[in-house]
Amino acid sequence: MFYYDAHNHLCDPRLESFQGDLLEALSRFPLRAAVVNSSGEEEWGAISKLADTFSWVIPAFGIHPWNAGQSLSGWRERLIRLLDSHPKATMGEIGLDRWIQNHDIALQRDTFEWQLSLAAQRSLPVSIHCLKAWGLLLEVLQSNALPQCGFLLHSYSGPEEMISQFTKLGAYFSFSPYFLHERKVAQRDVFTKITMDRLLVETDAPDMWPPEERNAHPLCERGTGKPLNHPLNIEVAYAGLAEARGLSVEALGKSVEANFWRLFGNTGNTGSDGEGSDEKQGCGPAKECGTEDQRHGFT
Ligand SMILES: [Zn+2]
Repeated sequence: MFYYDAHNHLCDPRLESFQGDLLEALSRFPLRAAVVNSSGEEEWGAISKLADTFSWVIPAFGIHPWNAGQSLSGWRERLIRLLDSHPKATMGEIGLDRWIQNHDIALQRDTFEWQLSLAAQRSLPVSIHCLKAWGLLLEVLQSNALPQCGFLLHSYSGPEEMISQFTKLGAYFSFSPYFLHERKVAQRDVFTKITMDRLLVETDAPDMWPPEERNAHPLCERGTGKPLNHPLNIEVAYAGLAEARGLSVEALGKSVEANFWRLFGNTGNTGSDGEGSDEKQGCGPAKECGTEDQRHGFT
């Protein structure tokens, strides 16, 4: 079977010194696709290059709510140009966060809504971050145009009661290895209430590491020794979610594969003039994408 990481941060500065080894390991692993997210503009260039080199990389460009208001002026124009230039582009990580100290939720909302409407215009799948702002997120999603293909609520930590409202709006929900910690049992349980056709799996590497006893690929930040989540822990996340759902990993894998391509298969990125061409479509399963070696960027 193939694995799909719906949300990670391979260009996070904390992974920089490991990146060569990680990319080699991921290219040997049956990872069919990974959505590599940006937190801010400083990562856009590296992610764009990574996506040009490795066909299994789906780039996600955007401004994270923690960085709302910190971008240099002109970021909106630069984001539009980047989306114009990158046929595989999706949008992420964007959203709302009342957990972070000293947040400016009005500024976050402006930044989020602008990016969301850009994604809707272009039918780009969106990766959404939300912490402690679920009511506001629902309000924003209900009052704005949304991308036709849907959106991802990554590492979903919202309440069970809101699943059906988000699902109606087009949500997919991804499970991270962090939910395997014993203290996260309630959230793990929420993932048994989501319909199979909306489930995805992620690592959020280098964050959201699994508990020590399940960590198949321990990794620590050079210098500080702080734990990091290795992107190969995608297999730990699959195993954990399969266990929670009472399924085999293979059965879960089949659903996740179909769900992943339904959301991320064709980005619909047609440029700011709205006139697309075949070359400007995303890399979906139908055209995905040559031999193993080609997929892994060795051509
Ligand atoms: Zn993330």
